[in-house]
Amino acid sequence: MKWKILIYMPLLLLTFFLPFKTADYMINKDTTKKEVTKEKEWVEKSIVDTTDIEEIPITETESTQKEEVVTESSNWWEYPDEIFETTRSGDDLLVLVNKQYKLPSTYAPKDLVLASTSGIRRGENYSLRKVIIEDLKKMINDSKDNGIDLSIVSAYRSYQTQVDTYNYWLNKNNNDVEYVDTFSARPGHSQHQLGTTLDFSTNEIGDALGDSFANTKAGKWLAENAYKYGFMMSYPKGYESITGYKFESWHYRYIGVFNATEAFNQAKTLELYLRGYNL
Ligand SMILES: [Zn+2]
Repeated sequence: MKWKILIYMPLLLLTFFLPFKTADYMINKDTTKKEVTKEKEWVEKSIVDTTDIEEIPITETESTQKEEVVTESSNWWEYPDEIFETTRSGDDLLVLVNKQYKLPSTYAPKDLVLASTSGIRRGENYSLRKVIIEDLKKMINDSKDNGIDLSIVSAYRSYQTQVDTYNYWLNKNNNDVEYVDTFSARPGHSQHQLGTTLDFSTNEIGDALGDSFANTKAGKWLAENAYKYGFMMSYPKGYESITGYKFESWHYRYIGVFNATEAFNQAKTLELYLRGYNL
């Protein structure tokens, strides 16, 4: 009997530890180890949509935990019952704008300039706040030095433009509010109203806006390097239940180099980092 245990024990241990190690790796491939430890509990508490982590092998224990989570959570794309005005001014780089906190309809930045002043391709069509241009210029120059092409496909949008944008998506999707709320912000809730947020694309996908950006050279380079220039991806993969939006690999918001670096070092997503300064 004893020799049987000797053979089966290592096998048992292997089946127990291997899936955890693999899951850990899958989650970690886009982030740092620190981030997973710190934010794991957020994800476990509120995640509903598991489509993004379906590749991860699930052990018996994990699937039991997930069932419990689903019954406790609400739908991640929904707006809360109570909506508040932002606690900081729209001019403040650290103002939290999300599904619960909206900008006043009257807010518009006063220092808008053409995005092309940063040297970004297609920039002549869009406006951004002057405060972000210097760092954006550095990022564009460094990306070029690394053989990366970046273009801009959306930037500042006024409150009224967001009214039109949201209605456009509603009309296009048979007034399916739930679906549209997964990717388009209602007026006042859009980071684009800040003038510090932009949507990137690249020549690799013909300057198109959308999911294909994630797998381009530019998309990968930005995901790794944007924080060094003060930019953060607002709606990262796997954090839908925290941000309220589906993964948007192209949508970045500028919060300044000091802040973005601090958020990176604390392994925090933009949403959680800003909550720390606003709530
Ligand atoms: Zn965007």
